[in-house]
Amino acid sequence: MAPYFGARFGNPSSVHRWGREARVALDEARERVAACMGAHADEVCFTSCGTEGDNFAIFGAFHALRPSGRIAAMTTPIEHKAVLAAVHQVAREGGEERIANVLPSGLVDEVSFASHLDDKLAIASVMWVNNETGVVQPIEKLAHQVKSAGALFHTDGVQAFAKIKVDARAIPFDLLTISGHKLGAPKGIGALYIRRGTTLEPMMHGGAQDRGRRPGTENVAFAVGMATAAELSVAERDHECTKLAAMRDAMERGLRERIPDAVIHGADAPRAPHVTNISIPGTSSESMLMALDLRGIACSAGSACQSGSTSASHVLSAMGVSPDIANAALRFSLGMLTTDAHIARVLEVVPALAEKARGMAVPA
Ligand code: PLP
Repeated sequence: MAPYFGARFGNPSSVHRWGREARVALDEARERVAACMGAHADEVCFTSCGTEGDNFAIFGAFHALRPSGRIAAMTTPIEHKAVLAAVHQVAREGGEERIANVLPSGLVDEVSFASHLDDKLAIASVMWVNNETGVVQPIEKLAHQVKSAGALFHTDGVQAFAKIKVDARAIPFDLLTISGHKLGAPKGIGALYIRRGTTLEPMMHGGAQDRGRRPGTENVAFAVGMATAAELSVAERDHECTKLAAMRDAMERGLRERIPDAVIHGADAPRAPHVTNISIPGTSSESMLMALDLRGIACSAGSACQSGSTSASHVLSAMGVSPDIANAALRFSLGMLTTDAHIARVLEVVPALAEKARGMAVPA
């Protein structure tokens, strides 16, 4: 990225040589991100983050299809707020909001999902991997069903991209969101895959960048960083996932041995290996998080964007988890820098803290 902050600082829309140099870098970055997901370069729209990609997919589809009578947006109650809030907004703008149920396993209830498919549906959005539990949805099957109903299918692939093979040639999603900072790129860059032939109403109006889909001067340096991060994540994916799964399993096994009544959310469903969400009955997420932080262990109760909020996770609530168990949830994320020593430290600290917390709990 460094040259594009300095010597190659041209604006890719300028016609002079410095502009053309930046344009080449941007075009190459787009091609490289596309190649990582079996896409054509013109199907990749750079965004500022995953939230923007999710919003663009939902509003872009709703606004483009509304005149044809397709006015409904369907999603699930376990989505990231970037999707859930966008779907709520569709309803406020006179469209229809539909929420398919999820099962206690964390998987989408396919009967409920199918019951929402009709000729009023503009778009269905189902996340590929859940950010709080790691549960992996059957995206290929759901995409086929939505396509058969004549609607657009969007998947929030923010947590999936570096963990699961994402191939636009193999799975018929129309729209897929990714976010740079989940891949090791800087915060402030993302991309929305838009299948050729899919018309989205732009969210912003202005210049002709990205053929008018997303006006505004592009962040060339971050796009270049995103391309490299995407290539590295895909190249290292299988090796990384094997390593993460082994560490996640060791952590879950160790915690269960030491705390037999610990509940691992989503454990009965297929899961990506980088998230584990554990409730220790009789403890509170909030006080455990603070105590863990003091001991150098960073984890969260729900998604990071919700930290600070004291309400139970909407994901666990939708899975039917009782409020007292949901309020005892700790979500640990494992990544490329996680080591066996970190897992050992969690196994040493968490059970000791839990024992202390439970000892201090006021008997009912
Ligand atoms: N979707 C999911 C599943 C996420 O986990 C996140 C962020 O954590 C987002 C969307 C939002 O992405 P961003 O933080 O890039 O806006």
